[in-house]
Order: sequence, then C-alpha cells, then structure tokens
Amino acid sequence: MLAEPRREVSVSIPLRRDDGSVEVLRGYRVQHNYSRGPGKGGVRFDARVDLDEVRALAMWMTWKCALLDVPYGGAKGGVRVDPRGYSTAELERITRRYTSEIAPLIGPNQDIPAPDVGTDEQTMAWMMDTYSVGRGHTVLGVVTGKPISVGGSQGRAGSTSRGVVAVAVEALRHVGIDPEGATAAVQGFGKVGRGAARFLAREGVRVLAVSDVNGAVHHPDGLDVEALEAHVDATGSVVGFPGGTPVESDEVLTADVDLIVPAAVEGVIHAGNAARVRARVVAEGANGPVTTAADEVLAANGVLVVPDILANAGGVVVSYFEWVQANQSYWWSEAEVDERLVERMIRAWNDVLAYATDNQLSLRLAATCMAVERVYRAHEVRGLYP
Ligand code: NAD
Repeated sequence: MLAEPRREVSVSIPLRRDDGSVEVLRGYRVQHNYSRGPGKGGVRFDARVDLDEVRALAMWMTWKCALLDVPYGGAKGGVRVDPRGYSTAELERITRRYTSEIAPLIGPNQDIPAPDVGTDEQTMAWMMDTYSVGRGHTVLGVVTGKPISVGGSQGRAGSTSRGVVAVAVEALRHVGIDPEGATAAVQGFGKVGRGAARFLAREGVRVLAVSDVNGAVHHPDGLDVEALEAHVDATGSVVGFPGGTPVESDEVLTADVDLIVPAAVEGVIHAGNAARVRARVVAEGANGPVTTAADEVLAANGVLVVPDILANAGGVVVSYFEWVQANQSYWWSEAEVDERLVERMIRAWNDVLAYATDNQLSLRLAATCMAVERVYRAHEVRGLYP
C-alpha cells in the first residue's frame, strides 16, 4: 500500500497565449498517502515534469511529513512547462486553469499545495484566489507559501534554511565541534543556500566558501555574508565579490571546513568526489545531493551526513504553521514561528539520532525507517476498509 500512490490525476491545461494562439499543457497532482492527514506538497512548473517525477516527489513528502510529525500525508503537483518562456499574464492563466482542474482534489482538509521549483508566493496567491472564487468565499488554508498580505506566515521565506542550520549546528556538536568558530562551505546561493549562509554566520560559524551556478568565492577567515548578499542583490551572482577570491565551483565541496551544506541540485557528491570531502558533517540542504555510492564512501571516512528529509524539512514545518494560523485566523510573530520551528527540528534530530544509535543505522536509514514506521502505524490502527 505504501508503494502505490493513493490518487493520481492528470489534467489538460488549454492556454490562450498573449499572441492569441492556443496551446495545451499537461498538469498532474498525485496524493501518495493521506493516512496521517491531508496531502501536502509543492507544485512544480518545469519542462521535465512528468507523472513519474511527481509520484516520486509525493512519496518523498509522505516521509518528510511523517518524520517531522506534522499531521499530513504526502502529495505533489506539477505542470510540464518552462516558466521562463511565458509572460506573467500567461503564467497566471496556466495557474488558474490548473487550479480549477484539480480543485475537486484539493482543500484545507484534503490536500494543501505550496511553492516548489518554478513557482512562488504569487503562484500561491493565484491558486488561493481561484479556489476561493469557486467556493464563493476566501479559503486561506488551501495553499501555503502565500504572501503575508493574504495569510502567509512570518518566517516562512527563510524557514528551510533556518531548519538546515538548526540541525547542522546540532550535528557539529554531536561530532565534538563547537559551532562558534567552526568553518563551513555552502553550495548554491538561492532560496536555501543564501539563508543557510546567513543563519550559519549568525550562529558564529565562519562561512569560508560559497558557490552558485556561475562560480565560487573563498575567504580563509570567513566571508562577510551580509556584504555578499548585497553583492548578489546588485549583480545576481556571488562571482566578482570583492571580499573573497574566486575558486573553482567544485572546490566548495572539498574545501577544508568542518561542515558543508550542498543546497543547489541533486547528485553533486558522487563516487568521483566523495573521497575528497574533508568536512566532518554534510547537511543536505538540497534534495538528494549525495548519491547512494557517495553515502558509502562518506560513511567509511567518518563523515556524518544529515539526510535531506530531516535537514531541509523546515519549510514544511512552517507551511504547517501557516495552515494552522490560516485555519484559526490568528497570526504569530516571527519570533514565535522561529522558536517553534527550531524546537521541532531539534526534536526530530534527537529522535533520528537515538533511532540510528539504537539500531546501528546511518541517519538516512534511521530517518526513512522512522517515517515509514509512522505511516505504517497509522494504516495499522485505522484498519483496511471495507
Ligand atoms: P533556487 O533556485 O532558489 O537556488 C538554487 C541555487 O543553486 C542557485 O544559487 C543556483 O545558482 C545554484 N546552482 C545551481 N546549480 C549549481 C551548481 N551546479 N553548482 C553550484 N550552484 C548551483 O532553489 P532552492 O529553492 O534554493 O532549492 C535548492 C534545493 O533545495 C533543491 O534541491 C530544492 O528541491 C531543495 N529544497 C528547497 C526548499 C525550499 O524551501 N526552497 C525546501 C526543501 C528542499
């Protein structure tokens, strides 16, 4: 039962382009599991989206929600489209038609979409509006990741990064390194990597190197992250930052630091470079940055890997907080959101560490086993209908 998605829908999305022509796109929504609560998962706009990818991502969400013990199942959606080739007005029409096609499946008690690759707060505002128009009243809890002005949560924008850093700091302590004065390198300077660098610096960790798709910068005493963010705002890239020297992008992963945070794309630490990783801790900001083969090499070399379903789950935790706030129409301060997020992340870290220690497993296997067990227990106690 856990291997099979519970529901899948594939929809046709006819789009009137700005030039008057009509084109037909394909969209999907998959609810992998909803035994522990409504489905939860992002909507991806990408040219590579297909049903299999959406299925895999929906299952990933089931485990992530179970591991963090938020009362959700797992779901995911997507439209097979490269958003860069479409105007804002066209993207709005795509979003609204997609939402109305999947509307019977979604809702605050059924399935709650959120942003993912290629979608953002604006997309969520359009989804919420379209769904609400259909119901005849405003339904804030139907999506998360909305703008603050229409029921978004304080602290959601940085929540994934905040969570990554909360568990990375615990992992450093676990291997006997004081985070204050420890060193780190971050791959990727987007929504996750940039915030990770900022929050690491706030914890007293010196960020020696960062990279983005264009290149990397390094400073032996630690980069001034605030100045680097200003440089990225002005130029669009970390390249050319005057407060560091340019280095090869891949050197970020093999830098002589205590912690690396791969926060860009999947498969970047692989059999070819894993043996050269010198950090004691790898915290997976991205989904799937360490391959299975690399996992074995890192384990043999005593490198502790904090797996993605734990490390980058801060976003789904604050999505849960957003949904709770929207359903109650009662809004928390940024400090309250932050405190509750960190508390949940550290609790999950402690649980996974204890399970891994008790069962002699890697953190990745322990996290996955715990998540699968929780979903299994829900099925067991609910029983099989009819
Ligand atoms: P993003 O598009 O905002 O940022 C990606 C960054 O990676 C950019 O700075 C880009 O230049 C850089 N990059 C791309 N290819 C690179 C390469 N080969 N080498 C170095 N840098 C490279 O995306 P994001 O939202 O930050 O997501 C990053 C990863 O985190 C993805 O795997 C995503 O699935 C995962 N993730 C994101 C969230 C979230 O809340 N945004 C939550 C969970 C997981």
